[in-house]
Amino acid sequence: MNKEHGSLSINSENIFPIIKKWLYSDHDIFFRELISNASDAVTKLKKLEVMGEVSLPDDNRFRIDVIVSPEDKTIKFIDNGIGMTEDEVKEYINQIAFSGAAAFLDQYKDKTNEEQIIGHFGLGFYSAFMVADKVTIDTLSWKDGAESVHWESEQGTEFEMSAGTKTTRGTEITLYLNEDSYEFSNEYRAKEVIEKYCSFMPVEIYFTNANAPVEEKTTEEATEEAKTEDIIDVDVDEAGKASESEEDEASEDGTETEEVAEDKGPKPINNTHPLWAKHPNDCTEEEYKEFYRHVFHDYKEPLFWIHLNMDYPFNLKGILYFPKLNTEYDQLEGTIKLYNNQVFIADNIKEVIPEFLMLLKGVIDCPDLPLNVSRSALQNDGFVKKISDYITKKVADKLSGMYKVDKENYEKYWDDISPFIKFGCLKDEKFREKMKEFIIFKNLEGKYISIPEYKEANQEKAKDNVYYVTDMQQQSQYINLFKEEGIDALILTHNIDQPFITQLEQQDEKTHFVRIDADFTDTFKEEVKEGEEADTLKTKTDTLTELFRKVLNKEKLEVKVEKLKNANVSSMITLSEESRRMQDMMKMYNM
Ligand code: ADP
Ligand code: MG
Repeated sequence: MNKEHGSLSINSENIFPIIKKWLYSDHDIFFRELISNASDAVTKLKKLEVMGEVSLPDDNRFRIDVIVSPEDKTIKFIDNGIGMTEDEVKEYINQIAFSGAAAFLDQYKDKTNEEQIIGHFGLGFYSAFMVADKVTIDTLSWKDGAESVHWESEQGTEFEMSAGTKTTRGTEITLYLNEDSYEFSNEYRAKEVIEKYCSFMPVEIYFTNANAPVEEKTTEEATEEAKTEDIIDVDVDEAGKASESEEDEASEDGTETEEVAEDKGPKPINNTHPLWAKHPNDCTEEEYKEFYRHVFHDYKEPLFWIHLNMDYPFNLKGILYFPKLNTEYDQLEGTIKLYNNQVFIADNIKEVIPEFLMLLKGVIDCPDLPLNVSRSALQNDGFVKKISDYITKKVADKLSGMYKVDKENYEKYWDDISPFIKFGCLKDEKFREKMKEFIIFKNLEGKYISIPEYKEANQEKAKDNVYYVTDMQQQSQYINLFKEEGIDALILTHNIDQPFITQLEQQDEKTHFVRIDADFTDTFKEEVKEGEEADTLKTKTDTLTELFRKVLNKEKLEVKVEKLKNANVSSMITLSEESRRMQDMMKMYNM
C-alpha cells in the first residue's frame, strides 16, 4: 500500500451526542458560553479600535442583551460586537472545535494580547444544543460592505445558511428551548444563572423578560429613580477618576464603562469592574467590606483580607478574606470562587486552591488557567501547582507580616484564625515552614505566648512538658492546682488542636504536650519514705487496683496511688497522657 497522509474526519452525527453529554456536566453553562462569546465579540472590536483598525461613532456603547420569553420558550443573546461575515460563520460555526478567538489572537498577535478574550477551544457555542432543539444566528460584521447572514440548525448536526435581515452591527443568537429545558426561559431562573456565571463580566449585560407586563410609572417614581441613579453615577464617576489617575488597562483598551450611563433606564445585571481587578491602592476598606457582603452574602464583617495582584510570571488577581469563626460550630466555612477573565468557573476547585485555603472566603481570577480542560488534567499540571504555591506563600507572608508589625491585631484575631493556620500547617509543609515561628497559644492568664516562651517561663517545674487545658470547667480543679504551684498551661479547646500538637511533637522531640489532668510532675508529689506511710500507700494501691479492675472489667489495669503535696486537694484521679490519647483515637475510629 502507498504511504498516505491526511487528517482524520469526524462524523458530527456521532461525535455530537458525546460532546453534548460529556463536555459540560451542568446544562446551565450555555448561558456562560453564549454570553462570553458575546463579550469576546465586544472585546475584539474594542481591541480593533485601539489598534486603529476601526473607528466607532462617539455614541457607541457596547452592551449585551439577554431576552427571555417564557411564552415562546426562547432566549436571545444580542451583542453589538464584531459580528461575523459569511466566511467567518462557515469557518467558526460550521466547523466544530475551530475557535475564532484563537484565530483572532493569532492574526493580531503582534498588536494585542490575550487579555480579556475568553474563548479558546471552539466548543462553547455548541453548548446551546444541550438545551435547544433549534438555534439561529443573525449576524452583521463590522467590516465595510459586509452583508448580514442568517444561520440556523436543528440538533446541531446540519445547518442552513441564507442572506440575513440584521441591519445593526453584531450578533443575535436565538435558542428555541427543548422541553426539558423550558425552565431557563423563566425570568428568575435565567437571572440566577446569569448572576452565578456573569456577575463580573467585562461588558454590560442587560436582562429583559419579553413577556413581563409593562408598568406605567408615575412622574414621582420616575424622578425618585432618576435621583438614586444620580447617586450611583457619582460612584461610578469617582471610581473612574481613581483608576484614571494611574495608567490602567481600562483606558488602554478603550473601554467606555467609566462614562456615566446615558440611558437612565435599566441597570446592567453585572459589575464590569470587580474590585479584585482594581489596584489595591485604589480600594477602600468600605469597598472591600461591601464586596464581601455582596459576593458571600455574609453580614458578619470579615476580619481582614489579602488582595492578590500579579502580572508576572503569571496573571493572577483576587481577594482572600478571613471570616469570623462560626461560633456555633467553632468552624470556618469558606468558599473560594474561581474566575477566568471575570467569568465564573466554579467554587472550591481543589486542584488549583490548596485545601486549607478553602476555609477562607475569596475570589481568584486567573486568565492563564486552562480551565476548560478536565479537572484531572489540572491535578498534574505543574503550572497549576505554581499558582497554588504562590497563593499559599502570599497568605503566609500576610500573616507573618502582621505578626511582626501589628502583633496586637494578630493576637486579637488569633482565636478566629488559628484553626485555619493550624489546618494549614497540618496540610501544607511549605506553609508550616513559613508559619511555625508565628504560632501562639493562649495561656491561663489569657495572654498569647509561643512554645519557646512557655518553656522558658516554666522550665524549672514543667521540664520538657507543655501542659494544656481542653475544658476550662471540667479541668478547673487542676487549673487551680497548677496556678497555686505557679505552673502555666495553654488553652487548646479546638478539635484541630489534638492533631496539631501531635504534629508539633513529631517536629520537635523535646516537646511533650501533657493534658493538665494527666501525669503529674514530681512537683505535685510528695516523696514518701520507707516505713509506715509507704505501707499504707501500698495497701491502698492494692485495694484500689482490685476495685478498679473489677468495676471497669479490666484485668490488666495498672493503678498507682501517690501522695500529693497540696493539702487542699484530698484526692484526684489522673489518666496518663498516652492512655487518654489512645482512648480518644479509638473513640474517633469507633473501635
Ligand atoms: P470559542 O469561544 O472557544 O472560540 P465557541 O464555540 O464559543 O468557541 O465559538 C466559536 C467561534 O464562533 C468564536 O471563536 C467566534 O469566532 C464565533 N462566535 C461565536 N459567537 C459569536 C458572537 N456572538 N459574535 C461574533 N463571533 C462569535
Ligand atoms: Mg466561546
